[in-house]
Amino acid sequence: MLLSLLGYFTTFDLKPWNPTDGYAPLWDDTTTLPVDVRRYILRFRLTDRYLGFAHTTLVGIAREDLDSLVLDFYGYTVDSVRVAGLPSPYIRDSSRLIVYPTPTLGAGDSVVVDVFYHGSPDSVFCPSFSGGIYVRTDGSFSTLGYPEGFRCWVPSYDRPWEKADDGVEFWIEADTSLTVLANGLLVDTVPTGTTRIWHYMHAHPIATYLISMAGRTLAANRWTWTYGSTTMPVMAWVYPSDTSLGWGVRLTDMLTVFSDRFGVYPFADEKYEQSVVMFAFSGAMEHQTSSHFSSYLGNYTQAHELCHQWWGDDVGYGTFKDTWLGEGFATYCEMLWAEAEGGFASYVLYYGNTVERTFFTYATNPGKPVYDPGPDIGDILSVYTYHKGAAVLHMLRYILDKDTSLFFGALRHYRSLHSGSYALTSDFVDAVETYTGRDLDWFFNQWVYEPGWPVYNVRWNAYPDSSGMWNLTLIVEQTQPVGAPTFRMPIEVRWVSDSADTLFVIWDSLDVQSFTLRWRSAPDSIIWDPDNWILERHTVLKDPSIGVEEVAPVGSRDILVAISGGSVRLEGLPSLPLRVYASDGRLVGYGRGSLRLRLPGGTYFAVQRDRVRVFVVR
Ligand SMILES: [Zn+2]
Repeated sequence: MLLSLLGYFTTFDLKPWNPTDGYAPLWDDTTTLPVDVRRYILRFRLTDRYLGFAHTTLVGIAREDLDSLVLDFYGYTVDSVRVAGLPSPYIRDSSRLIVYPTPTLGAGDSVVVDVFYHGSPDSVFCPSFSGGIYVRTDGSFSTLGYPEGFRCWVPSYDRPWEKADDGVEFWIEADTSLTVLANGLLVDTVPTGTTRIWHYMHAHPIATYLISMAGRTLAANRWTWTYGSTTMPVMAWVYPSDTSLGWGVRLTDMLTVFSDRFGVYPFADEKYEQSVVMFAFSGAMEHQTSSHFSSYLGNYTQAHELCHQWWGDDVGYGTFKDTWLGEGFATYCEMLWAEAEGGFASYVLYYGNTVERTFFTYATNPGKPVYDPGPDIGDILSVYTYHKGAAVLHMLRYILDKDTSLFFGALRHYRSLHSGSYALTSDFVDAVETYTGRDLDWFFNQWVYEPGWPVYNVRWNAYPDSSGMWNLTLIVEQTQPVGAPTFRMPIEVRWVSDSADTLFVIWDSLDVQSFTLRWRSAPDSIIWDPDNWILERHTVLKDPSIGVEEVAPVGSRDILVAISGGSVRLEGLPSLPLRVYASDGRLVGYGRGSLRLRLPGGTYFAVQRDRVRVFVVR
């Protein structure tokens, strides 16, 4: 899913979900539904902007004894319902179709529910962010199921974790002027006079929100993708007058780039296509094997939607709290495409100029966490899931020693565990830890489950010692606001000098921490995180007062502490920032030069420049 940034971030003002209208909220945790869905068979006659006939079949296995089937369904007029071929009574409320099978079903029984309905797509009120069938005045149409809008055109168990394991099959009757697209392979088309019936078959597990169809007057740019012994058709569907634009010409290269990294494209026995048939919003949507675009969006968006076929589609996310497992990955793939095109420098550039810049433009610190960013659709579709999610993968690659075989190996291992199914964030963490043999809870906790990013205030100074080596003292303070954690990260520091640069790595993990580096040449400057591996902000300042006593002692620089009752008075160097931290790292006092404050009993640290004074209030 990609909403055009301008439209989305500046003008979308979406309502929060209203759970009281009988609509299951997006952030539902996974539950065991009463039916294991195997397949949806969908038959539609859609002509003159009207759904004249719909006959959908839900095929599955009962997981428990059932005297009713509660399907998600909005809108349309239901004409009849059959279970196992027998007419069944049903009732409807505003959000559901409740069917009473006669006879009732037992656990393990096969479930076949046929629903016949009709109506005008325009009259369906879909409470999902968007969804249902979109029809246009010229007779063209397309569907959107994201995030919970499949129920606005098909009676279903519309939950992201309940995939139709055997896939989806379509018979779509539409005007002969239209090219009709849907998931999977076109089996055949049958002309019927002024209409034509298009028969599509997709034989892979598929989440409901990734099922789609579209009809429009289109022409195809076609290619054949070859990868080892695999050959597969690739199409980009455009307006008939636009075939010469070459839109989609890089798709086969992208398929190779991502297959090299993640394992072969998941639906290589069928197809991949992108088409300009998105009418719901400005952007694109990763419908399985058949992604929809509102316009000829560029290579990075095409790479994003293609990448979703691995991440979001093949390996689904179980709940919308785990959205970053699709969107963060797909955004990261934009960086991978940049890297494939222009090497590591392009990767770093795309990260800095697009991913990180967009994030810092729209995010607040601490803001929202990557996992479960909040109840609104605007939280799920946000820079926290997309851009920070991508930054998490970027930083994971760094934490894994920039070892791309280890990093992509971990992603492939994760995929192998959840291909054709879904994963939760904890499943991803487990898979990476198992594959790499490393404990990474500290990394995922601070970056995924907690909000915010580190803001480093770095001061340094250097001086030679008696052996002629240079000592560089760094004082690193984390100054992010309350609510963001104190981050533990290895940080690269480049020591820049006339004769030779060198790179150090420090492990920073405290609110205030000092480090001493040694090197043979005098530093002209230092560059903090030179390759931009970390999602952070920093200021770096050379501070001549640090360590100055090594060459020119100026007497005691201790911080004086006077305690009487709970009242504490601190005296440091005049006019310089003086901070007091509690033992858990919380900043509890701040002043310049001196400070007076009341503190409850406990141990505290007063910090001014590189001086630390520990004191206890009883
Ligand atoms: Zn996306």
